[in-house]
Amino acid sequence: QTETKNRTTQTTCPYCGVGCGVTVNQDSQGLAPVSGDQQHPANFGRLCVKGSSLHETVDHVDRLLYPTVLGKRSSWESSLNLVADKMQQVIQEYGPEAVAIYAAGQILTEDYYVANKLMKGFIGSSNLDTNSRLCMASAVVAHKRAFGSDTVPGCYEDLEEADLLILIGSNAAWAHPILFQRMAAAKQARPDMKVVVIDPRRTATSDLADLQLSIRPGSDAFLFNVLLCWLDHSNALDHDFIANHSEGFEQTLQAARASTPQSLQECAQQLDVDEDDLQTFFQWFTATDKTVSVFSQGINQSSTGVDKGNAIINAHLATGRIGKPGATPFSVTGQPNAMGGREVGGLANQLAAHMDFSGREVDRVRRFWNAPRVVTRPGLKAIDMFDAIKRGEIKFLWIISTNPLVSMPDADDVKVALAKCELVVVSDCMANTDTTAAAHVLLPAASWGEKNGTVTNSERCISRQRSFLSPAGEAKPDWWILSQVAQRLGFGEAFDYQHPADIFDEYSRMTGFENQGERDLDISGLSGLNHDQYDAMAPVQWPVNSQYPQGRQRFFDDHRFYTPSQKAQFIAIKPELPAPRSQDGSLIMNTGRVRDHWHTMTRTAKSARLAQHIREPYVDIHPDDARRLLLADGSLARVSNGRGEILLRAQITTNQRPGEIFVPMHWTSRYASAARMGALIDKSCDPFSGQPELKYTGVEAEPF
Ligand code: SF4
Repeated sequence: QTETKNRTTQTTCPYCGVGCGVTVNQDSQGLAPVSGDQQHPANFGRLCVKGSSLHETVDHVDRLLYPTVLGKRSSWESSLNLVADKMQQVIQEYGPEAVAIYAAGQILTEDYYVANKLMKGFIGSSNLDTNSRLCMASAVVAHKRAFGSDTVPGCYEDLEEADLLILIGSNAAWAHPILFQRMAAAKQARPDMKVVVIDPRRTATSDLADLQLSIRPGSDAFLFNVLLCWLDHSNALDHDFIANHSEGFEQTLQAARASTPQSLQECAQQLDVDEDDLQTFFQWFTATDKTVSVFSQGINQSSTGVDKGNAIINAHLATGRIGKPGATPFSVTGQPNAMGGREVGGLANQLAAHMDFSGREVDRVRRFWNAPRVVTRPGLKAIDMFDAIKRGEIKFLWIISTNPLVSMPDADDVKVALAKCELVVVSDCMANTDTTAAAHVLLPAASWGEKNGTVTNSERCISRQRSFLSPAGEAKPDWWILSQVAQRLGFGEAFDYQHPADIFDEYSRMTGFENQGERDLDISGLSGLNHDQYDAMAPVQWPVNSQYPQGRQRFFDDHRFYTPSQKAQFIAIKPELPAPRSQDGSLIMNTGRVRDHWHTMTRTAKSARLAQHIREPYVDIHPDDARRLLLADGSLARVSNGRGEILLRAQITTNQRPGEIFVPMHWTSRYASAARMGALIDKSCDPFSGQPELKYTGVEAEPF
């Protein structure tokens, strides 16, 4: 598969939102072990074990090598014709909204752009959503409510410059290892730097913590409301920032007061933490100007995730700790290009390039794309989309590069829904996933190493993913597949792309189109690159325009927000504490990543090195619960609820709070029978973001 000539390629890791640069060396012997790109600003040469195993996962085993229709090999020509014809028929018979695409934070920005333009500009359906809905949709809404834009204010350097680093719902040591290494190195260099981990369970990240607050699951917004009251009582507010650069503080403080008990002791009881620890956290926050609050899936994957995000941001606005070195709230995304997707507009509640559905923006997008059917309202978010499919309202579904039959809540219901579709198309690089098994048409997609394009990491840094391998079999890039279908639908001129550089150029021009600074996302400074310049593009943090030709490290250092008043918005939060655990012995199931696997393991299971870290699915359970339930360490446990049951190896550990268990998200029926945690999780979502609750599911456990 490898080219024979000697070649060095700088590319970007396809796993997590840290977005590390990777150096790939090839010679006549093939691919050498990859190494970290010394120049890349995300990792400066470091790679975690997943990234450094990339060369072990690029073989053709289990790859989807050619198109198939109903399980039989087909040609690209006839498969694409079939897809386009069926799409056309569904649009004519049922209307454009009977067509949907469900994509992934794994695809490249150029792929996203073409999918979004096709759906929202030319087909006329907003039903384009992605698995990023499961990753960071709540952070997007929290940012937009507070800043008027989906802007990550800070940069990775802020994590190193902070004197107080707070990690909330983030096991960065496993989920964002290189970022965690940067934090650990900063703390080693400056031992006075304080680290607080706020998480119901103790994790590998806790090893770095000066203080761990193992709060009751779901009580994060309550905690930050109490903090706001504490800051007020302690005269620690930044009155100048509040008065001149923000709105809504008084209502927010009143709401916080209304939810906060009189005494710290009662607050600590509600949070189920030690009162002295709580006081220490508040005192550190009060006293430390350079504070960074990192929040991740423990905040986002919640039925109140948006409010939790805003409660954290409120504390930063109240102290003016935003837009300054070492002082910012910081949402860290899970996937390698969830950020690029949301920038392009690849969520059902976005239009394009940080433009939404106001009449002015719809008109602007229509004129830029010269598009016949620009959508005027948001589409269905993931859970609602699959429910609409199940009701028979969506007839045509195209799943791109993701495995919803494993990863979606109530995943068995997604299987039922797909059976209702007239056509399910799956484009993927892997042949045998739970989702490919449910497809009528399978289209082979180029994989990491074969693809060419850009991704954006958690600090807004745009990096190139470069190809260095020939595509496996007849695999093609996603942007090419989408463009070919668009041409067959009669939109040839608008989708006549020959190279991802053509797409990137159009996208970067769109970000600057009629943008006099009212939109944060502007990379028009990167437009007009020829193919060689695009290929040589160095990592850069957006925006890139005439004002910031070299990119911008921090937003809001100028105190200018993207709301109509240009002021930041405090959001009054009435925290909903989770219901107390019932006395009938039921447990609360939390879910998340392990260090060496990624998503549904379609790539990482190929590496023996990665597989040996944790060989089988497990459940972490507190000794008191294990004793009560007669579960021995290492025994098999049946974890169940009304929706289904899974079998897991019991690991007894005091890292869990009593009454709560942890189950990893990765294992599917392919790798361990009956270990798919998505079968137990219901469809509870955040009402604002539509992000599912993946951290708080009632279950029972018993010996198997
Ligand atoms: Fe890849 Fe994330 Fe590891 Fe970096 S930290 S090497 S991006 S998995």
